[in-house]
Amino acid sequence: MTAKRDYYEVLGVSKTTPINEIKSQYRKLALKFHPDRNKSKEAPEHFKEISEAYAVISDPEKKQIYDQYGHAGVDGRYSTEDIFQSASANFSDVFGRSGGGFDSIFESIFGRGGGFGERQQRGSDLLYQTLITLEDVLSGKKMEIELKKIIECNICNGSGCKPGTNQKTCNTCNGQGQVRRTRSMGFASFVTVEPCSSCRGRGSVIETPCSECKGSGKKKGTKKITFDIPPGVDNGDYTIPNEGDEIPGGINGDLIVRIRVQPHQNFKRDNADIFYDQNISMIDAALGRKVIVPILNGTEKIKIDSGIQPNTIIKLKGKGLPRINSRGRGDQYVRVVVNIPKKLSKHQQSLLEEFQNSFE
Ligand SMILES: [Zn+2]
Ligand SMILES: [Zn+2]
Repeated sequence: MTAKRDYYEVLGVSKTTPINEIKSQYRKLALKFHPDRNKSKEAPEHFKEISEAYAVISDPEKKQIYDQYGHAGVDGRYSTEDIFQSASANFSDVFGRSGGGFDSIFESIFGRGGGFGERQQRGSDLLYQTLITLEDVLSGKKMEIELKKIIECNICNGSGCKPGTNQKTCNTCNGQGQVRRTRSMGFASFVTVEPCSSCRGRGSVIETPCSECKGSGKKKGTKKITFDIPPGVDNGDYTIPNEGDEIPGGINGDLIVRIRVQPHQNFKRDNADIFYDQNISMIDAALGRKVIVPILNGTEKIKIDSGIQPNTIIKLKGKGLPRINSRGRGDQYVRVVVNIPKKLSKHQQSLLEEFQNSFE
């Protein structure tokens, strides 16, 4: 949810703009975004936003509360119905009583049925878990999966109607998608417009349902999905928009790919850096030598200097993992582990004693 925008900003006016100018500014915007005229997806929401702003600002009492306390002040005192109900005169002022008058505006705002304003259904998000290796993290991985999910029915293409048949106008609401209901509160009564329950606000009903999906327009199925796991990823959830359960005429859910990186037998990882322990003998530490160490995509020859001390770290620059949000690769750190022989033969022992004596 985004934060509610400032009413003045929504209408493009200021606190001190005279009411007749606010009215003409609202009329201009209302004509532009009226869902009967503007077929864009955002139009109903936008229309509602400007109408609510106008309903509050055109009412001196509510304007004062809004100027002083902002949205919290207005929302705390009035319901949406209160706001529009008491501003009805201001709306008919703008549009006139006849032809596209307040009633139809009111319906646009409250009626969630009909062609517009219908709250779109959204498919469920799906979770797909995958285990990858550190080598995959290095090079990235192309994934091709068969995902079990709700898909649009291929027989009726999501319409729910048996092929060759069509939807027919709903009798309950005469295709309006909404029904009026008069409610009384105390002495006053007012009309609300609610989505038609027979057609769930669609305005039409299926006469002969598709036999494959029983009229729902969707069914269980599988879909082949390909995506790339980018180099450098770590454990975490990644969203592939729109690849969750499908909803014909609505918004598909998302696919959440949960990535776990398998522990590696040789390497430890810290972000883009790799750590590796290289064992060498006491003699090699003393005399120095060249050793071949594994790196993620091959091997690397490194030089152990004579007299190297235990736990010395040798850095292999750029031999780590790719950095996911920037360029280049991390480093590999090789820690030199010096092994002291646990058992010596008689001969080795006397050689070492001789070596020791050489210091005296
Ligand atoms: Zn079908
Ligand atoms: Zn209906």
